[in-house]
Amino acid sequence: MFEKVLIANRGEIALRIHRACREMGICTVAIHSTADSEAMHVRLADESVCIGPPAARDSYLNIPSIMAAAELTGARAIHPGYGFLSENAEFARIVEAHGLTLIGPKAQHIEMMGDKVAARQALDQLGIPLVPGSEGIVDSFHTAQRIAGEIGYPVLVKAVAGGGGRGMRVASSANELELEFAVARREASEAFGNDQVYIEKYLLNPRHIELQIMADSTGDVVHFGERDCSIQRRHQKILEEAPSPLLSEELRADICLRAVSAVQKLGYLGAGTLEFLFQDGEFYFIEMNTRIQVEHPVTEMITDIDLVCEQIRVAAGEPLSRCQEDIRFKGHAIECRINAESPVDFSPAPGQVTEYHPPGGGGVRVDSALYAGYRVPPFYDSMIGKLIVYGLSRDECLMRLKRSLEEFVIGGIETTLPLHRRLVSEPDFISANYDIHWLERLMKEWN
Ligand code: ADP
Repeated sequence: MFEKVLIANRGEIALRIHRACREMGICTVAIHSTADSEAMHVRLADESVCIGPPAARDSYLNIPSIMAAAELTGARAIHPGYGFLSENAEFARIVEAHGLTLIGPKAQHIEMMGDKVAARQALDQLGIPLVPGSEGIVDSFHTAQRIAGEIGYPVLVKAVAGGGGRGMRVASSANELELEFAVARREASEAFGNDQVYIEKYLLNPRHIELQIMADSTGDVVHFGERDCSIQRRHQKILEEAPSPLLSEELRADICLRAVSAVQKLGYLGAGTLEFLFQDGEFYFIEMNTRIQVEHPVTEMITDIDLVCEQIRVAAGEPLSRCQEDIRFKGHAIECRINAESPVDFSPAPGQVTEYHPPGGGGVRVDSALYAGYRVPPFYDSMIGKLIVYGLSRDECLMRLKRSLEEFVIGGIETTLPLHRRLVSEPDFISANYDIHWLERLMKEWN
C-alpha cells in the first residue's frame, strides 16, 4: 500500500480523498493555489505545497508544478479527484513515466473515453446499446443532413471532446441543422480546442441513469448499481438518487451484466461510470467517465462501501475488497449539490461565509470544505458542498432530506439551498415522475 498520496485537487473532493487516506493509514499531501492557502484540505493534510497563482491553468492544471510537489514530498501516488487533470491522458502518462501511480485508469482508457466517438465505437462492439446517431465524426453539413434524415429530427450535434454539459446543440429541422452544426463546431473549438462533432438522436423525455463500476488489476470487475441523475439544468446534474425509482430488477440486472462484461473485455482498471439515457424501457449509452464522480456518495450510502478506498486499493495492485455477491444494496439515498450561486439566475456568488451550520442526525452526510469565516474564491467551480441523505425507503429519505435542508445554514453568500428546498416539495419529484428536461420546465413555470 502507498505510504503517502498527493491529492491533485481542491474543495470537497480533496477533503473526501484525504479522509479515505487517513482511514487507510496513508499520509496526505495537499496542493493548493495562492487563493486556497486557508482551505480546509490544506489545513487537514499532513503536508501541503503551494503550486501556483489562482488561475487553474497555473496551479491545479499545472503538471510540472504538481510533479515537482510529488517529488519534493516523496508521494508515490496521485489522486486526481474529478475535474482538473482527472481525465487528462497526458497527465496519466507523465505520472507513469516518473514511476509514480495515478489513482485512476490507464492512460489508454482515459484517452479512448475522452473521445466520445471512439468511446461509442468501442462500447458498440462490446454489445452496449448506443443512442442512434453517426458512426463517426461528422465533418460536413451535407453528411450531418444525411444522418439526421436517417435517424429523424430532432438531433443533437455534440462535441467529440465535450464535457460538463457544454458543446451540444439541438436541431429540429434541416434549416436549423445548418446553423446549429456551424455553431456547435465553433463552440467546440473554443471550449475544447477541437472542433470535431458527431450526431445523436435528441431524446425527448429520457432519464439519465448511470452505472458505477470498479475493476482491479487481476481482471475482476464489479458494479455498484445505478444512480438516477435526471434532475439537471443545462445538462448539468443538480440532484442525484440511488437506486433509480424507475428500474425493475430485471432491467437493472441485464444492463449491469452487460456493462461489467464490456468493461472486463476492455481490460479497464479502477473506477468508471457508464452513462446512459433511459427511455421507454430501453438504455442508450452516452459516455463513460473514467474518474470518481461528484455523486459517488449516494452509491456509498446504499452499499456501505467506500469507493475512494476501493480506488486506492486497486491502484496499489490489491484486489477489490468485495466480490459481486458481497455487494448488497439497502435503502435509498439522495444527494443535493450546493453551489455558491444565485438560486434565481444561477450567477456565481463567491464571498465570505459568515455562518455555517450543516445538518446532522442519523442518515445525514455533508461533504463540504466550508467553515465559518471561509472565503469562497471566485476562480473555481461554484459547487461548495453536497448534502447526502439516506433512508430505508425513498419516502423516509425524502422526509429526512426535507428536514436536513431546513436545518442547513450557510450565511453570507447566496447558495442553491432555496432551490433544493422548493424542488423536494414538488409533487412530481416526490412521485419520481421526472425526466432530464423536467427541472427546466418547472423553473419556467416558477418564473
Ligand atoms: P457531458 O460529457 O458534457 O456531460 P453527456 O453526453 O454526458 O455530456 O450528456 C450530458 C447530458 O446532456 C445528459 O445527461 C442529458 O441530459 C443530455 N443529453 C446528452 N445526449 C443526449 C441526447 N442524445 N438526447 C437528449 N439529451 C441528451
